[in-house]
Amino acid sequence: MTEISTANKLIGLANNSYGLKENAADCATEAFTPSLSDDDFKVQVQSVDKATDKVSIADADVVVSAGRGLKGPENWGGMIEELAEVLGAATACSKPVSDMGWRPHGEHVGQTGKPVATNLYIAIGISGAIQHLAGVSSSKVKVVINTDPEAPFFKAADYGVVGDAFEVVPALIEKLKAFKAANA
Ligand SMILES: Cc1cc2nc3c(=O)[nH]c(=O)nc-3n(C[C@H](O)[C@H](O)[C@H](O)COP(=O)(O)OP(=O)(O)OC[C@H]3O[C@@H](n4cnc5c(N)ncnc54)[C@H](O)[C@@H]3O)c2cc1C
Repeated sequence: MTEISTANKLIGLANNSYGLKENAADCATEAFTPSLSDDDFKVQVQSVDKATDKVSIADADVVVSAGRGLKGPENWGGMIEELAEVLGAATACSKPVSDMGWRPHGEHVGQTGKPVATNLYIAIGISGAIQHLAGVSSSKVKVVINTDPEAPFFKAADYGVVGDAFEVVPALIEKLKAFKAANA
């Protein structure tokens, strides 16, 4: 257990970084009515400005992530970014993809990249190496699209599609667009 002993305590938690845990311990609930004035809030957020209009990995409810199975950087523009746009998702990638300069380093997720603890993580053409899984396994629902049924990511997946990303992803985009149009 960590104890903070300073008079002023500031705690920041990333989205979904802690799951719900049931605690069997007895507890008493006590009504408490604090009396606070504006002076008690010395730090106030007046506005939040984002550098881009894209959803960031840390803020995203859904992350669409792709790996070396995508073959080249040109395949993000048409397919991966479109899927992310339809879902209102952030885009991410595996380490080799950012090392090769196919995607910016800020999108690299995993042990040595950004951690992802999102509600839905869609991994496309990513094998599921231990270093990648280490950074994304806190995500609630993981969907894997991979041609290789033996890809390690399938063992960590909630839903898996064994198939070619170049066929599965466009079909998925079409279905999602049709669903959105029907429910608009
Ligand atoms: C110290 C250390 C730290 C590391 N940290 C990280 C990290 O933070 N994040 C990270 O990601 N990696 C990290 N790595 C690298 C990691 O070990 C893997 O090499 C890397 O994750 C593999 O990336 P990949 O899955 O994109 O590529 P690959 O392993 O090459 O996998 C590509 C996958 O795409 C599939 N595929 C191919 N064609 C298609 C298609 N048409 N449709 C669908 N699927 C297809 C293949 O079956 C394969 O499973 C680290 C390694 C080390 C040693």
